[in-house]
Order: sequence, then C-alpha cells, then structure tokens
Amino acid sequence: MRAYVIGNVTVDETISVSAMPEAGASILGRQQTRDLGGKGANQAVVMGRAGLASILVAAVGDDFRAEIIRSQLGEEPVDARLVRLAGKASDFSIIFTTPDGENAIVTTSDSAGSLTISDAIRPLAETAAGDLVVLQGNLSDDVTRGILEEARRRQLVTAFNPSPLRRFFADLWPLIDIAFVNKGEAESLTGTGGQAAASALISAGVKYAVLTLGAEGAMLASRAGTLEIPAAPAIAIDTTGAGDTFMGTALASCALRGVPLDARAIGHATAAAALTVSRRGTRSAFPTNGELRAILAA
Ligand code: ATP
Repeated sequence: MRAYVIGNVTVDETISVSAMPEAGASILGRQQTRDLGGKGANQAVVMGRAGLASILVAAVGDDFRAEIIRSQLGEEPVDARLVRLAGKASDFSIIFTTPDGENAIVTTSDSAGSLTISDAIRPLAETAAGDLVVLQGNLSDDVTRGILEEARRRQLVTAFNPSPLRRFFADLWPLIDIAFVNKGEAESLTGTGGQAAASALISAGVKYAVLTLGAEGAMLASRAGTLEIPAAPAIAIDTTGAGDTFMGTALASCALRGVPLDARAIGHATAAAALTVSRRGTRSAFPTNGELRAILAA
C-alpha cells in the first residue's frame, strides 16, 4: 500500500516570543528555527520515516523558498512530486511559540491554493485500489472535492484533516473514510464536542473519526463504538506538528499492517506525537526513522 499526500509544503520560520502579540502591538522575538513544514509535507515525511511508501504532491513557486523546500525534502524518504508555479511565491509559515509551549501559526497559501485539479490528480493514475489519499485544508475548495471524488472512483482510502478550517469541509464527510480533527475543528464542524462530535462524524458518513485532544489524548470512533486513548506523558516545549505526527503515524501503522484504523495505531500515534511536542521545530522535531520503527514495533 502507498500513501499519496496531496497538500501543501512550506518553509516554517519559528520565532520565540515571551507572550503572544496583541493586535496593534510591536514586540521583540528570537528566531528559533527555519524548517521544512506545511501540513502536507509534515504528514508525508512522518509516513515516509515510518517506512510507508509516501508520495507528496504539492505546489511551490519559483523563488528561494522553493530551493529550500526541494533540498530539505531531498533528505527525506518521500517521493516529492513538486509542481512549480511560475510567478508564484512558495508558501511559508510564521510560527510564534511562547515559553509554555503554546503556538500560533500564520501560513500563506498562494501556491497551495493555485494547485489545479489536473496537477493534483495526475499521480493518482498510478494507484491501486486500497492505496491511501491523504488531504488537509490548504487546497482550494474545488480541488479538495475533486481529489476526493477521483479517489472514490479509483477505490482509494481517503484520510482528511480539515485544517486550516473552512466551513465547506462539513459537506465532505461522505467522501471521507478517516477523519482526524482536533478539538476546535470538531466543535466548529459538528457544533458539538467530545464523543458527540465523534458520533456526528460517523453519522455523517465518515468510517473512522479520530478526535485529538492535545494533552488529554485522543478518541477513536467508528460504527463499532468509541475508544478513548490517553496522551503519553511529555514535557511540551513546542506543539507544532503534533497533529501531523499523530495522523502520519496512525495511518502508517495501520497501512503497514494492512488493517483498518485500530486502537494500536492510535497508541503508536500517541507515542510519536509525545516525542514531537517535547522538541522544538517542525521537521526537526519529528521522530526519526529509527524512533518511528521502534514505536511501530511495540
Ligand atoms: P498541532 O496543530 O499543534 O499540530 P493539533 O491541534 O492538530 O496539533 P492536538 O490535539 O493538539 O492536535 O495534538 C495531537 C496529539 O498530540 C494529541 O492527541 C496527543 O496525543 C499529542 N499531544 C499534544 N499535546 C501533548 C502534550 N502536551 N503532551 C503529550 N502529548 C501531546
């Protein structure tokens, strides 16, 4: 089984601040890291490091950031199919982190939002039924829906993380096999929280719904019922990429074992995300190949 991640890739500039800036404020910060990021790239990197064949389809511009992206992706076990958009700026994120481990992220989407449906689905021509298609919220509405419809035609398994959040995502549930949503996304998209939110996603057509609840852990729901899995203990330094580590690890765990999403996969994801939150940066904070293989063997 292979995973096709169709999403965004960014250069992440992480700046540490003593407190989040208020509107109108001008504050001092310190550059902490410059790293490969973007939810699409993050999830592709984690699945690749876990040992799953991982293909990333993402748009970049024709600027210096595209070179940084190309070179950093080249260091990862990911088959990067970058679509170069002339005259566009590559996407980037500014991430503020505070001493208590909280973060606030602004991501540009000039390139991701310009990926066309034909560029997005071209690599799906090589898929086999049962391969994974993994999406997040950075592509345009039409392209997001078009990919999910193409995946259905090809009998692929679709996994979706509705982040950054848009209301339109609530219309997509019947096209989604596995949804990963955090607390805020669950509340915005279902109008409720916790177990009720998970049940609402299953009633709306999702086969497996995973609610991530930060330090409180996660919930896995399906027609068979709901399981709660506590977070692994960690000293949180920088939570950037925790959700992406969690999703990438859970998907790789079940894909590599050839089973549907199960409690064991969520346990693996929990262990991997605990490592990510205990380190600074994005890609540099993700568990290494060796760490992920050890987690998946447990
Ligand atoms: P992010 O946007 O920061 O990547 P998210 O909002 O998508 O994350 P969260 O629900 O915050 O996702 O976290 C995902 C998972 O990471 C949690 O389910 C948990 O397993 C792990 N995690 C997050 N914060 C902590 C923490 N403080 N300690 C241990 N594990 C954590």
